[in-house]
Amino acid sequence: MVTAASTADSSAAQPLIGVLALQGDVREHQKVLSACGARTRRVRTAGDLADIDALVIPGGESTTMSKLAVDFGVIEPLRTARAAGLPMYGSCAGMIMLADRLEGGRPDQQTIGGIDMVVRRNAFGRQIDSFEADIAMDQLDGPPVKAVFIRAPWVDSVGPGVDVLGRVESDPEHAGPAGRIVAVRQGSLLATSFHPELTGDHRIHEYFVAMVRDAG
Ligand code: GLN
Repeated sequence: MVTAASTADSSAAQPLIGVLALQGDVREHQKVLSACGARTRRVRTAGDLADIDALVIPGGESTTMSKLAVDFGVIEPLRTARAAGLPMYGSCAGMIMLADRLEGGRPDQQTIGGIDMVVRRNAFGRQIDSFEADIAMDQLDGPPVKAVFIRAPWVDSVGPGVDVLGRVESDPEHAGPAGRIVAVRQGSLLATSFHPELTGDHRIHEYFVAMVRDAG
């Protein structure tokens, strides 16, 4: 028999995590989330947001994602869900979507916002299209994360309520990115400049799923 209590238990154990599926590497995030014990749903419309426990915003192209979010009428519902406390994790273009302020955005580019930070689009890409670095993250057990950056943003600055989770370490060959902030958390919002869904290291997604369980 399924009781209310057991239903609540199973949704805490196996949260339903939406993946914004307007554009970008949706399937890769779904695979990793499933491996972390979550159920997933593709989110394209306001209706798809009903009942989800959290949302992942994938990498892709933030100007296109922004335009589609406006065209699909989902940008305001996303802002409302975020303001109501829905946990969200944004990777790369997804980080851009969670930024309160952008450098290098298009004039008409919309974000969901929520993280008090300035994100600089294509920050790595001006010098190098793709870049890999080990990022030490105290919140994760084990070795540093091998981070893959693809035409990635970085975070220029954060407000007082934002925890910096990871920075690019000093590297004499790549002075530009050295010290730059590439992973942040503000309350129930998490963002990385890099793409953990592409490396087989599930620790960032596990960390997010644990955030979602805690919030539930
Ligand atoms: N450069 C892209 C943008 O500005 C982000 C790249 C990515 O998500 N891999 O949206």
